[in-house]
Amino acid sequence: MFDGRLSYSKEYFNKNLFHDYLKEQGMKTFQDGLTARWAAVKAGLGYFRRNNFVYTKFGSWVWIDTWIVDFELEYDKVSPNESASCPDNCRRCIEACPTNALSEDYTMDRGKCITQLAGYSTEPPSEELRTKMGTLLYGCDVCQDVCPMNTGKWREEEEFPESESIKGRLSPEEILAMDEDTLLNVMQPRFWYISSDRIWLWKCNAIRAMANSGDTKYHQSIKDACSDDNEKVRDMALWACRKLGI
Ligand code: SF4
Ligand code: SF4
Repeated sequence: MFDGRLSYSKEYFNKNLFHDYLKEQGMKTFQDGLTARWAAVKAGLGYFRRNNFVYTKFGSWVWIDTWIVDFELEYDKVSPNESASCPDNCRRCIEACPTNALSEDYTMDRGKCITQLAGYSTEPPSEELRTKMGTLLYGCDVCQDVCPMNTGKWREEEEFPESESIKGRLSPEEILAMDEDTLLNVMQPRFWYISSDRIWLWKCNAIRAMANSGDTKYHQSIKDACSDDNEKVRDMALWACRKLGI
């Protein structure tokens, strides 16, 4: 529950400190120019597991930043890690993936991953996938949540920065009723997988989650969304009405 890209986060501050340190050493730097997970594994900081995440002693709940520098560095020796492989018979992550984006070890179909579909899509997901996406509004992480190697790795020690300002706003009804200003200025800076030009995706996600919840309390909101200004939102609401027979 941290994000080094949020300008008000401690991680963002620390990342900038490290960047300044590299500069002070006289290095030219280029940030984020590498495939971060592969670079981390190659550097001996962690290892891949079957769900494709990089694990350390903190499980897969790690954030990786990369810098390319114009200095030759002396490398640490990488020590072999005995816990680096998944238990032989474990396939929990693959079996739990709601959309079958994970179907084999160390592979992932990004076109089926909920994090992709609910955050980066330029078109609403196919009707087949909508149902499988369930009630998740943004992101997924099921394949990390079910992993036994992540058990007990989270520690509730700090509040997520500025969580007060979004408290109570993250229900499907609230999101579906949100005005553009709130979506752009409150939601987008915190949940930026959904970019400003695809802000309609929030409402599509909310309608899909409402439809999949099976809760009749959402029916009126879904019907109202059939006359939304945005065509994609209207189409999603009509799909939900057909699905629910309302
Ligand atoms: S994040 Fe969710 S949808 Fe994506 S691969 Fe993991 S379990 Fe599957
Ligand atoms: S759930 Fe099992 S197979 Fe998947 S990454 Fe974790 S330990 Fe490996």
